[in-house]
Amino acid sequence: MAGAQAAQPAQPAAQPFRPATPEERAAVYQALRDAGERHFQHCVNGHMFVVGNCGTLAGAGRCPDCQAHIGPGC
Ligand SMILES: [Zn+2]
Repeated sequence: MAGAQAAQPAQPAAQPFRPATPEERAAVYQALRDAGERHFQHCVNGHMFVVGNCGTLAGAGRCPDCQAHIGPGC
């Protein structure tokens, strides 16, 4: 019967952020390499991240992937 469509499921709220896919990360890292960025580092669990500017960690931080401590003294 026309007009008897089921109600559409509620759309999830738009997420302002989402985790980058491995492919997206690889593209970003490649672009940084192409731009001359050489300050790649890894957290204790092997997640790669980039230290910008001079490449010196100015303070402690957390790995965006596993929350491992990164920075001076690690
Ligand atoms: Zn990590």
